[in-house]
Amino acid sequence: MKNLYFGLILLAVFSCNKHEKTDMKTLSDEFIQSWWHQFPTQASSAGFHNYDSLLPAYSSELRNSDREFAAHWLERLQAIEPKDLANDAERSDLALMKEALNSLLFYTDTLKAWEWDPSMYNLAGAFADIVNAKNLDSIQKRNFITARMKAVPDYYTTAARNINKPTREHLQLAIDQHAGVMDYLFSDIATWVNEPSLLESAEKAMKRYASFLTSISQKPDSNYRDFRLGKSLYASKFKHDIQAALSADEIYEKAVQRKAELHAEMFNLSKQLWPLYMKSPLPQDSLQLISEVIQELSKKHTKPENFLATIQQQIPELEKFVVEKDLLTLDPNKPLKVRKTPAYMDGVAGASISAPGPYDEKGETFYNVSTLETYSAEQAESYLREYNDYVLQILNIHEAIPGHYAQLVYANKSPSLIKSVFGNGAMIEGWAVYSERAMMDAGYGNGQPEMKLFYSKWHLRTVCNTILDYSIHCLNWNKDQALDLLVRQAFQQEAEAQGKWKRATLSQVQLCSYFAGYSEIMALKQELESKPGFNLKAFHEKLLSFGSAPVKEIAAMMKGENN
Ligand code: ZN
Ligand code: ZN
Repeated sequence: MKNLYFGLILLAVFSCNKHEKTDMKTLSDEFIQSWWHQFPTQASSAGFHNYDSLLPAYSSELRNSDREFAAHWLERLQAIEPKDLANDAERSDLALMKEALNSLLFYTDTLKAWEWDPSMYNLAGAFADIVNAKNLDSIQKRNFITARMKAVPDYYTTAARNINKPTREHLQLAIDQHAGVMDYLFSDIATWVNEPSLLESAEKAMKRYASFLTSISQKPDSNYRDFRLGKSLYASKFKHDIQAALSADEIYEKAVQRKAELHAEMFNLSKQLWPLYMKSPLPQDSLQLISEVIQELSKKHTKPENFLATIQQQIPELEKFVVEKDLLTLDPNKPLKVRKTPAYMDGVAGASISAPGPYDEKGETFYNVSTLETYSAEQAESYLREYNDYVLQILNIHEAIPGHYAQLVYANKSPSLIKSVFGNGAMIEGWAVYSERAMMDAGYGNGQPEMKLFYSKWHLRTVCNTILDYSIHCLNWNKDQALDLLVRQAFQQEAEAQGKWKRATLSQVQLCSYFAGYSEIMALKQELESKPGFNLKAFHEKLLSFGSAPVKEIAAMMKGENN
C-alpha cells in the first residue's frame, strides 16, 4: 500500500511537468547500471565486469532487496508518459524495462522456482564468465574469482535453506550437474585461487549441498511437487515470458488448428509424391503415408565431408532470392561469415548464429556450423537424414537469411542496450519462423512438392512444441501422449522426441515462443495487408527496425496506437 501511495504522488508531480522531456538515454543507462549491481552474475554473463567480485546468496534479505528494487524503479518508470518520449524506440525500451521489473516480481513471489528448482544454484557460469572475459587481465580475474570463491559456502547454505518440495525432475538435474560443477571449480577454477583454506571451505559446503540433495532424493513422493505448472501459473508465466497480445489458451488453440491444416496439406503433397518415389501400394492411414514419403525423401542429403561447404554455397543463393523477390534490403557491407564451430563451443551438432554480447563492440557475428568429424558413420547418416537437402535450406533460412542473422543486422542499426539485454525471445524466434513462411510464400523452391512437404514438417515441429508444452503443463499429459504427438503426428525420430519430453519437464513456456511470435507477426501482417498501399518489403523493414521488442509493442507502434 505504501508503495502505491508514493507512486500516486509521483505521478501527480510528473503530470504537472509533462512538457519536460524525459532523457531516456540517461535513464536507461542508470537502470542498466543498477540492474547489474542488483544481479552481478547476470552482469558477468553480459560482459559487464564491474561487479564480478559479488556473489550474493539468495536469502530472504536479498529477495526483499529485489522487491524494493522493483518497486522503486516501477514508480519511476510508471511516471513517464509514453507519448512524451522522443520516438518509438524509446517507447519500446520503456515497455521492456517495466516488464523486466514485473517479471522480477513474478519470479520472486509467484513462480518461486528458487524453492523447487535446486538446479538453479549452479555456479559454473558465475566463474566461467570471469575466466572467459575478454576485457579483464589475469590479476583482475584472480581477484574476482577469489572473492566469489569466498562467497560459495554462504551461497550453498542459503540454497539448501530455500529448497522446499522440489520437483523430482529438477532435483535429478541438480544432482547430475552438481558433481560436474564441483569438478570444474576444484580442478580448473582452483588454479586461480592462492588461498587453500578458501577452497577447502567452498568444497566442504558444496559437498554438504550434494549430500543434502541426495538425502531429499530418498524421501517419499509427498515431499515433491509435480513439475507441471498447472493452468493458472502457466498462464501467468506465459504472459511475462512471451509478452504476447494473446493468452496461452489462445496460442494453444491456434497451434491445434495449424496442426490440422498442416496434416491436410502434407497428406495431399505425399499422395502426389507417392507414385514418383514409392513402389508399394498407398497405405490406408494418412499419417503413415506422410511418414513413409518423408523417410524416403530424407535419403537425399549431402555427404558428411561436404556439410559445411553445402551450407556455404547456399547462403549467396538465399541472399539472391531475398533481393530478387524484394523481401528485404540486405546490407552488402555485412556479409554473413560461415565458419566451423570453434572447439570451445562445440557440443550439440548443428548450426547456429553466434552474436557478440552487448559489451563486446568489436565482436563479430558468425554462422557456426559443426562439422561431423567426430561422428560415427551411423550418427552422421541419421543426422544428415534429419538435415537432408530440403531441410538444410530451411535451417539456413531460419538461422541466417532472412532469419536470425538478418534480424540481428537490423536490430544493430538502432542499438539499444535495453533491447540487447531484455530483448524478447518470442520476437527473435517468431521472426525466424515467420521468415521461413515468407520465403515459401514468395515461391522459394519453385513450388516443388518435396520442398513444401519438408517445410511443412519443419513448421509442424514448431507448432507441436507449443501443443506439447501447453498440454504437458496445463492438460496433465503423460510421456506416452507426448511421444505419440511427436513421433506419430509430427514425424520425429524417437531420440529427438525423448529429448523434447525431457526439455518440457525442465522448462516451461519457452517452447511456445517460436509459434507465439510467428502467430503474432502473421496476425499483424494480415491486418496491415488489408489496408491500401501495403508493401511487403516496407512491412518487413519497419517490423525489424524496432529490434527485439515484443511483437505486441511493435504492433501497437506500427498501427500508431501508442502515440
Ligand atoms: Zn544416406
Ligand atoms: Zn531460432
